[in-house]
Order: sequence, then C-alpha cells, then structure tokens
Amino acid sequence: MEVKGWSGERRPSRVINVGSVPVGGDSPITVQSMTVTKTADVEGTLQQIYALAAAGCDIVRCTCNESEAAVGLAQIVPRSPIPVIADIHHQYKMALAALDAGVHGLRLNPGNIRRPEHIKAVASECRDRRVPIRVGVNAGSLDPDLYEKYGGATPEAMVESAQRELEYFAEVDFDLVKISVKASSVPLMVEAYRQLAEVTDHPLHLGVTEAGPPPAGLVKATAGISTLLMEGIGDTIRYSLTADPVEEARAGRQLLEALGLRERKNVDLIACPSCGRAEVDVIDVAQKAMEAFGERQLPLQVAVMGCVVNGPGEAREADLGIAAGNKRGHLFIKGRNVAVVPEDEMVGALVEWAEFIHEHGTEAAIARADTARAEREAEKDRSMLLAEQGDDANNTTERIVEIGRRLSGDSAS
Ligand code: SF4
Repeated sequence: MEVKGWSGERRPSRVINVGSVPVGGDSPITVQSMTVTKTADVEGTLQQIYALAAAGCDIVRCTCNESEAAVGLAQIVPRSPIPVIADIHHQYKMALAALDAGVHGLRLNPGNIRRPEHIKAVASECRDRRVPIRVGVNAGSLDPDLYEKYGGATPEAMVESAQRELEYFAEVDFDLVKISVKASSVPLMVEAYRQLAEVTDHPLHLGVTEAGPPPAGLVKATAGISTLLMEGIGDTIRYSLTADPVEEARAGRQLLEALGLRERKNVDLIACPSCGRAEVDVIDVAQKAMEAFGERQLPLQVAVMGCVVNGPGEAREADLGIAAGNKRGHLFIKGRNVAVVPEDEMVGALVEWAEFIHEHGTEAAIARADTARAEREAEKDRSMLLAEQGDDANNTTERIVEIGRRLSGDSAS
C-alpha cells in the first residue's frame, strides 16, 4: 500500500514483524486494540478479536495476568485472524508463559517489571524465539526513582525509562523492539514522543492512555495521535477508550483513512490463519478469492474461514464469509448461514453474493436465502467434524503442559 498523507517526511524507523504484520519503516501504519474479555474465556475472546479485525484492527493485545490467561492464549493464538500480543504487568513469568503459548509479541511496562535479571530473562527468550517486545512506558506508572530524579512524570523521565529498558535488552543482544510513551495528558505525550523520536529509530506505538469515554476520549486520542502522525512520527496506533474496543479499532482505522494514511475501497478480505481444524487450504482459497475480487469496487469485508465448526461464529462481523466443511462451502452473512455450495464453487459463490449484497443490501441477501436449510446443513457438517477431530484439533494440550511446567513450583513473581 502506498503510504502518503502528510506534508513532511515520515520519520525513518527500522522494521519489526509482529507475526505477519510489519511495523515501522515504510509499512502501512497499523491499528491496534485490546480485548476486554477474560483471556481464559477463549471463545468470547476470539469473537471479540474477529469483531476487532472486522472493524479495522491489525494487531490485538490480550492481557496475560494469570496462568488461566496463558492457557487461554495457547488456544486463542492458533485461531486468531490477526497477531496477538500478550500484555504483561507485574509477573515476568507470565511473559515466559505467554511465549510458551505462542504469542506474536509482548508488551512490558518498565515501571512494573523492574528487576534487571527478570527483564533480561524475558528479552533472552524473545531473542531466541524472534518475538518482539513493546516497551510500554506509562506516565502513571514510572519507576519511582525517575519520578524523583525529574520531579514528576516529565517527557525526559519517560524517555529515560524507555532507554533504560533498551540498555537491558542490549545486554542480551535483543533489539526487536517498538516503544510507546503514553500519558493521559495530550501535551505531555506529544512532547515525550517528539523527544523519543530524536533518540531512537525503533518503531513507535502511539496512544493517549486512559483517554476516557467518547466523545471526550475520542477527541483527546485524536488530538495526540494525529498531531504526531502529521509530523511523520508513529508507526502503529491505539485509541484507549472507555468503550467497546470495537469503537477503538474503528476510530483508529477512520483516523488513518481521514489522514490519507490507509485506504479501503475494495473488498477487505480477512482469512482465518488456518489451524488443526481447517478443512481446506485456507491460503489457497484466500488467494483465489483475492484474485477473483481483483479491483472490483466492493467495499465489503469478506471472510475466508477454514472450518464450519468455528468460522461463521468467529467472523460474524464480516459482511460475508465462507467456511469449509465436509468438501462443501458454507456461506454466511453477518454470521448467519445462507447457502451451501460444493468446495470448488466457493470462490465463485463468494463473488456472486458479494455483488448481490453490494447492489441490494444485506437484508435482501438474507431474504433470498433458505437460511433454515443452510443452518441445518452447516450443523450436520459441524457435528461430523467435531466427531472426527475431537475437541483438541490444535494440540494445545502440549503447550498448556509446558505453561503448567513453567508456572508450577516457585511463585510467579
Ligand atoms: S480452521 Fe476453523 S478454528 Fe481454525 S482458525 Fe480457521 S475458522 Fe478458526
């Protein structure tokens, strides 16, 4: 995607990869958000992740605050359509457990995990696994000695907090890092990011923390984030709103579109990452669907899902989708099953239904379908797959055993 929209130059930064999503350099500026479900609630969290992806979220963060959350992540990661970052606060062992769970990134708050040996243990593990870390400095939880040194949470104190963390990382030769220096005060965060941008070339994650409920929260976050973006500073953004996280993702996406930094005119194709349950080669079907939609001006979100067991539910926010099962494709609109087609007709059917929805609307498309039959057929294939594959199609038990081993014995400090 061509990146444009500001009058000046984008600050040069190195590129890191959060799973399959590049952050920094000339990569498109990405939108992040955070789930508010309990991470141990796997199905609820996945549904929220799909809703976030449908609203324009590129990378999602889930809290990993207890062993049940780490176990949940082991089940969520293989089924998430977008990369998953684990949010770690006080317990460094939770960071290690999240890595065992297979997360694509970590967020550490330097104010909360302060023992150098703990920071370096996590960074070493990330280095070996090639997993990036966001150093998430927060004005409200700075290391107490920095408060004292600077007489409060000043931009200088926040930048020094990030730099200290980078020094620990450098000691173990780890540099897959992005940084945030968030504050709830817009002038403070803007100045902190400006100073940080001068002293590092790591990609920057922008946000106004605890911005509050909309509309005031939206205004604050927009003021801070867009000021910096227009100066060429920032590689990924998050709106922190006291609201449904879908609103955060939507606001982030809309801001980037408004600034001319991202565009969506054609089909937005999302696809599940595929996992042990997949009934088709998801990459191949998604690729063929991309080619079939080509440059058609259909501003719809279309989902390609590997299985009918979870696909329609996970991608219920998509305008249209297809899920594979028993050599058939189950078409669904906003999560409702509408038709069944042979596997080799999946892509053609997707295009035909997308054009119908674009021309006549969602209601008319559902009205023309035999939804009762479609649901019956989907249920039949779903039950068959569950009987064949069992509950643990992704072999998550193995990862969970690893997490249990990691967290058992000594306390998770
Ligand atoms: S194959 Fe099914 S369970 Fe696996 S990620 Fe795709 S839709 Fe989800």
